[in-house]
Amino acid sequence: MSYVLGLKCRECGQTYPEKGVHVCETCFGPLEVQYDYPAMRGKVTRQSIASGPHNLWRYRDLLPINGEPKSGHHSGMTPLKRAKNLEKVLGVRELYIKDDSANYPTWSYKERVVSVAITKAIELGYDTVGCASTGNLANSVAAHAAEAGLRAFVMIPHDLEQGKVFGSLIFNPTMVRIEGNYDDVNRLCSEIADKYRWAIVNVNLRPFYTEGAKTFGFEIAEQLGWKLPRHTICPTAGGTILPKIYKAYREFIDLNLVADNQPRIYSAQAAGCNPVVEAIIAGRDLIKPQKPRTIAKSIAIGNPADGYYVVQAVKQSGGWAADATDVEIVEAIKLLARTEGTWTEPAGGTTLAATIKLIESGRIPRDESICVCITGNGLKTVEVVVDQLEPPASIPPRLEAFDRLMAGGVAIVAAPAPV
Ligand SMILES: *Cc1c(COP(=O)(O)O)cnc(C)c1O
Ligand SMILES: [Zn+2]
Repeated sequence: MSYVLGLKCRECGQTYPEKGVHVCETCFGPLEVQYDYPAMRGKVTRQSIASGPHNLWRYRDLLPINGEPKSGHHSGMTPLKRAKNLEKVLGVRELYIKDDSANYPTWSYKERVVSVAITKAIELGYDTVGCASTGNLANSVAAHAAEAGLRAFVMIPHDLEQGKVFGSLIFNPTMVRIEGNYDDVNRLCSEIADKYRWAIVNVNLRPFYTEGAKTFGFEIAEQLGWKLPRHTICPTAGGTILPKIYKAYREFIDLNLVADNQPRIYSAQAAGCNPVVEAIIAGRDLIKPQKPRTIAKSIAIGNPADGYYVVQAVKQSGGWAADATDVEIVEAIKLLARTEGTWTEPAGGTTLAATIKLIESGRIPRDESICVCITGNGLKTVEVVVDQLEPPASIPPRLEAFDRLMAGGVAIVAAPAPV
């Protein structure tokens, strides 16, 4: 059973059948999937969802597929952790980490959007998929395409971390490094999508792709025991995940699956690439494009495709925004690791650092529930912490050598250390 009605222009309302298009022919506005929500009433319930598979397809009634899932059978349903140690350090009452650093198979939130896009690509009859990526998307497209038996072309900026490059190459896609930043990669991919009959997941399949991001929000709500956190802090790159988490919350509220606690959503960006945060703080709807300069490469998008919709979701929800310097990002990565045992990449460090600022400035009250969205894994970005960690001692394999080391006053730090 599918509740999908088709595609609809977000600006002028023109409708389209389901196909590989993403902009309106009349006004160039972005297209969005339309569902028959009235038909879902009484059918899409807590029970119908809870009886689904232990992966993101338990929410398939709210996703744009018609047949069976073709990808992502083991993606999603990542941990939602109560962060007790971090609560103490930050002086807040109820803090959660939604941890997509543990998402299968390539350890980022991108499994969600790619699972839906690959399934849709197969439904629409494509044999080749591709993407414009800051790294994680390329990893995910390459892995899911390998499993589904599709050809993959992944396009990345030339200066990514090794973990992101080899994290794609191992799956044997055709990878092209573009001598430019992400915005150059994206522009080229739009031209490729026009010319070649490929499913570029975040270009011509974008309306379907972006819907997959809702599962991040659905899981938070279900895992909290069918409740919404009052405050959700989320990183912003191209602007997909933040508005889709908010849309997921609204859909669950409208279907009476959760109570409406007026959830607020907050955007986090690196100070070296903060076009959306800058617009929100300045009270502008319009995004001024930037040239990125930050270690947070996975979210370094200077001209975000859906930046406008991030601003709208943040404003509508009564949320706000904050950015973080590279130094603050690394400090937050280390803090999360030593308090909660979660190693995230700079996108997650950005989000935690922004959360801390929003708490300290009083934007987020200390006594209300808070959820920090961790979207990527630190093992792929070892570069940003190598200079920060004390190298381990090296000794001969003899007890006396170890005794000498102990007598030398090796610092044994009790965790968690306060900041
Ligand atoms: C892609 C990505 C994001 C967010 O990107 P959006 O385009 O805004 O959805 C956040 N964190 C990580 C680690 C990512 O790879
Ligand atoms: Zn239109």
